[in-house]
Amino acid sequence: MKSDAACFTKVFGLVDCNNFYVSCERLFKPSLEEKPVVVLSNNDGCIVARSNEAKDLGVRMGIPLFKIGDLVRRHKIVTLSSNYALYADLSERVMNVLSTMSPHQEVYSIDECFLDFSGFSDATNHGQDIREIIKQWLGLPVCVGIGPSKTLAKLSNFIAKKRQQYSGVFDIRTLSEQEQSALMQDILVDEIWGIGRKLSERLNNIGIRTVKDLRDADPEQMQERFSVVVKRTVLELRGMSCLSLEEITEPRKQIICSRSFGSYVHSVNDLEEAVASYASRAAEKLRRDGSHVAVVQVFIQTNTFSKSQPQYCRQGSYRLTSPTDDTIAITKAAMSVLHEIYKSGYAYQKAGVVLMDLAPAQSQQLQIFSPVEKISKSQRLMQVLDATNAAMGHKTLYLAAEGRNETWRIKSEHRTPAYTTCWDSLPIAKA
Ligand SMILES: [Mg+2]
Repeated sequence: MKSDAACFTKVFGLVDCNNFYVSCERLFKPSLEEKPVVVLSNNDGCIVARSNEAKDLGVRMGIPLFKIGDLVRRHKIVTLSSNYALYADLSERVMNVLSTMSPHQEVYSIDECFLDFSGFSDATNHGQDIREIIKQWLGLPVCVGIGPSKTLAKLSNFIAKKRQQYSGVFDIRTLSEQEQSALMQDILVDEIWGIGRKLSERLNNIGIRTVKDLRDADPEQMQERFSVVVKRTVLELRGMSCLSLEEITEPRKQIICSRSFGSYVHSVNDLEEAVASYASRAAEKLRRDGSHVAVVQVFIQTNTFSKSQPQYCRQGSYRLTSPTDDTIAITKAAMSVLHEIYKSGYAYQKAGVVLMDLAPAQSQQLQIFSPVEKISKSQRLMQVLDATNAAMGHKTLYLAAEGRNETWRIKSEHRTPAYTTCWDSLPIAKA
């Protein structure tokens, strides 16, 4: 394979935390080490994270908990509710440390980021340093994959996790061309970054089963048959970097806050509380992004899987006279939509608030009828609200409309404390 030498000068590292949610839980409960542990989705429904021991027992990702009840009992698998406050906080700490270990960083998900490794004379060594520092400073295990393109860095990370002999850091460039081909021959095409299940089925149909098959496919033909994305993947697998680090994340186009309820909700009062809570949560995210919203959408729905219950599912929206980030204005808008779409006599299972038509706060046009002093009052109130809740804990200050009884709250019976984000939940060290 010939290509421009300049393409090979870039080096990418992909740092990925191992079994992230489970590792976060183990940090504060070392007794969970070496035990099979799983973390459940909202409402304790499905498996969203597994320890290696749980993987070895055959627990599949995404499977509903009730389907593996026997296995859980037989092997004493520890089941935990998800503790997103803890995961988000530890994620931020990991990303902060990693940002100091390379000149450029792209945070890709809660537990992964790409780093620019160009210019490090011994990339594997640098990867090992990263592993040690994250382990020492934060107590979390990570693996590092290194390659001349993002797709190959991802693939290297997969190898680093699977093959013990690399001690958690693998650089595909250290293999000879024959060794690379042999390795790629061994890995199925669906392990490649961006090749999902559907696409890999279609690739299988034309005889492309392994990573090597796709690397050696004709890029132009791949574009014709599939898409330009698949063509780019072929080139990236050949070591030509087509995707650069995306350091600046695009501002969000919408903010969604929606949950399934812990049990069915019938009354409009309970729905009001839930929708008001979601609206206020969404408004908080909006302010953190420095955006204003123009359209507030609300939806409510019954359990669409239930065959015995009558079904109802509606959504509606409200356009604000002037874009805002004020919790009170947003909640009022959400309430008026809710009253429009609510119908009694149904068992509601889920509701949500979607903030749409977002724009940066500074580009907002003042309306003739929104007096300046009223805007600054609202701004001051929101600042006090956010500052109080940040300092003293989530929901220290909230709107009365959000209510206190929270019968609609989701089930999370096995949730560990918010060890790192709430004063009351700080772990106690005994000397
Ligand atoms: Mg991970």
